[in-house]
Amino acid sequence: MQQTVPDKNDTITIVGCGGFIGSHLLDRLLEATHYRVIGIDLVSGKISRHLNNDRFSFVKLDMHDIPSVKPYIERSGIVILLAALCNPSLYTTRTLDVIDVNCTGTIPLINMCAEAGARLVYFSTSEVYGRTAASLAGRGDDAESCLLREDCSPFILGPVEAQRWSYACAKQLIERVVFACGQEHGLNYTIVRPFNFIGPRMDFLPGIDGEGIPRVLACFLSALIARKPLRLVDGGRNRRCFTWIGDAIDACMKILERPEAARNQIFNIGNPSNETTIAELADRMIRLWRRQVPGASAHGIAVEEISARDFYGPGYEDSDRRLPDIGKAERLLGWEPKTGLETALDTTIKACIDLYCPALRKE
Ligand code: NAD
Ligand code: UDP
Repeated sequence: MQQTVPDKNDTITIVGCGGFIGSHLLDRLLEATHYRVIGIDLVSGKISRHLNNDRFSFVKLDMHDIPSVKPYIERSGIVILLAALCNPSLYTTRTLDVIDVNCTGTIPLINMCAEAGARLVYFSTSEVYGRTAASLAGRGDDAESCLLREDCSPFILGPVEAQRWSYACAKQLIERVVFACGQEHGLNYTIVRPFNFIGPRMDFLPGIDGEGIPRVLACFLSALIARKPLRLVDGGRNRRCFTWIGDAIDACMKILERPEAARNQIFNIGNPSNETTIAELADRMIRLWRRQVPGASAHGIAVEEISARDFYGPGYEDSDRRLPDIGKAERLLGWEPKTGLETALDTTIKACIDLYCPALRKE
């Protein structure tokens, strides 16, 4: 029987498909669209349930292997770039790898998209904004002054010794490469700046299915399971806008569905209504955990303060507030986030208990 070659316009390649965002994006693409998906990654544990799907091909590849990656890009109408090293603990400890994967190793993929005429959806980061400009000017408590806008807010990084900013700097440079490829080679692109997406399958639990320091949500879940104190870096005073992964995937779908509106645009994707300090996040997670694990009340769950230097080592700095203006995504994509922090955390905690420690519910 003659095999039909899938239409290029029906094919999406996701580089970094096996990670947190990739796994949720893949769920949605396979469940709610007609696209064929090629997923490139080094790992596939989080997407194992799709490995036998006829519309999905997993290709275990290092994105640096350009000759092997190229044919997949060439047969795709859309390429979504997610591959990254994106845990803050790595920015100061594996700086060269962070710069390589997030910048130098990514540039050939962008050039390939331009050459192949593929539409590129590039996942940058809210961290490109760097330190909070309004706070530096003494207006850190004024929300209006803090709002970050895609096309006019400045990028402010710390000195080279503060290697925390290696990731932001790498992603900034890629945004500039993507923009220039649009101007000089006609690349059709959309840049996404995620603001702390959260949900099931985020990162890993140290000592259980990974090593090192994950992002804050997994750090707190790991502490709750181990009945250890939740550690508040520098008192947990910094603020973040945690965004439910389902809302974030809705935004990705709008970007795919509205190619003209999204063409050569940068979008903040985040939930300003969910802004919280990290100390408040810890309190909330402890309360929700106790509700789901009744026996937990008996074990004195606690928080403890720790300096950034003791937690991350030298070279760490932080953004004290990252508040997105999402007006552009609302206007051009018709997208707005719907899920409050309480629901997002409760659902994530439930998924974590189901996966790692269902017996705790019976204690
Ligand atoms: P993740 O770490 O869960 O996923 C990244 C994936 O990239 C992993 O599966 C990893 O194996 C893969 N990868 C790394 N190096 C690779 C290589 N050399 N070859 C092939 N694959 C490789 O991260 P995520 O949270 O899913 O983030 C996805 C993207 O979104 C990243 O670019 C990240 O910078 C950006 N981002 C995410 C958030 C968030 O809230 N999750 C916030 C800001 C930016
Ligand atoms: N943080 C914390 N305790 C932890 C892990 C992180 O207080 O166990 C803080 C971290 O210093 C930062 C915030 O939580 O202020 C968010 O950190 P995360 O690693 O999730 O990512 P970021 O938003 O900084 O990229």
